[in-house]
Amino acid sequence: MKTAVFSTKVYDKEYFEKHLTGEPLDFSFFETTLNQNTASLATGYDIVCVFVNDKIDKNIIEILADNGVRLIALRCAGYNNVDIEAAKSHNIKVVRVPAYSPEAVAEHSIALILTLNRKTHKAYNRIREGNFSLNNLIGFNLHEKTIGVIGTGQIGATFCKIIKGFGCKITAYDISRSDELVKLGVDYQPLDEVFKQADIISLHCPLNPSTKHIINERSISIMKQGVMIINTSRGALINTADVIKGLTDKKIGYLGIDVYEQEENLFFKDLSESIIQDDFILRLNSFPNVLITSHQAYFTKEAMDEITLTTLKNIKEFEAGLSLTNEIV
Ligand code: NAD
Repeated sequence: MKTAVFSTKVYDKEYFEKHLTGEPLDFSFFETTLNQNTASLATGYDIVCVFVNDKIDKNIIEILADNGVRLIALRCAGYNNVDIEAAKSHNIKVVRVPAYSPEAVAEHSIALILTLNRKTHKAYNRIREGNFSLNNLIGFNLHEKTIGVIGTGQIGATFCKIIKGFGCKITAYDISRSDELVKLGVDYQPLDEVFKQADIISLHCPLNPSTKHIINERSISIMKQGVMIINTSRGALINTADVIKGLTDKKIGYLGIDVYEQEENLFFKDLSESIIQDDFILRLNSFPNVLITSHQAYFTKEAMDEITLTTLKNIKEFEAGLSLTNEIV
């Protein structure tokens, strides 16, 4: 069977080549995202392999089905970018990589918190320019602060365990509780209580209709003055316009985001010579207390190995006609 790999960056190809040695698998790599204009590239392929910003809606599914595609292999955990019902109705199976490294994402969330708080990014630049002043570099102790965790699945749970080591109190909201985390001292509360009590809010729930824009004007209004919001989950958990207002009003003291609602037009691309047309990202970039990374929380060597190996396993199971361990049903 033939696999068309979309949104291929140099590092994706490098990891596939590392793990494909000796495998009788037929892979073609395309740099482009899979979209309305590029879906025809999948003609003659049985499988498409895609990433977080390939938006596979009903239309694309129809084109893929007409072109003979029978499997969509996601190289990620979240699957909000695929119309699963449309795939089912066209008899296309969808598989994902459910867990490749919760540590990678949880550790990046911590990196965002520490950088925003202790301003190491600013200190780095200052000192390289011979400026050894401490003015405006003041941070706060994490010890005894209350951290609000929304979503305590694999990444959220790992995050709780790490942040516990800083001596933080943890209050959490999830639609299902983890007994292990309760034993660790995590205090599950209704969502609004988490918003009210937390000094730092970290988002680790999936994007779905019940979580879209969970951070909005109303929820921001009940948060603590100067709250820090961290989002390494999915961009649309945050209403960007409302967060910009919260930052302008100084209600939000810090914002760290690894994901952004309109990221597919920006992230993973070098736009340094382009005129960026997205006014929201330009406004966010103008705040001294906002830190944006380009969906890199997952990006560790260990995670890349795991993503590639699980994707290959998913594809091999499909080719062999076996039941699909990581099928989204
Ligand atoms: P998971 O499925 O293990 O955990 C998700 C948790 O969210 C579950 O405990 C679930 O009960 C909870 N949840 C579901 N609906 C909820 C709601 N309405 N309110 C509160 N909690 C809710 O997933 P995970 O592996 O921990 O990943 C979480 C998310 O992280 C993924 O969905 C993905 O969007 C994101 N992610 C980002 C990156 C990155 O590089 N930035 C990498 C991997 C995953």
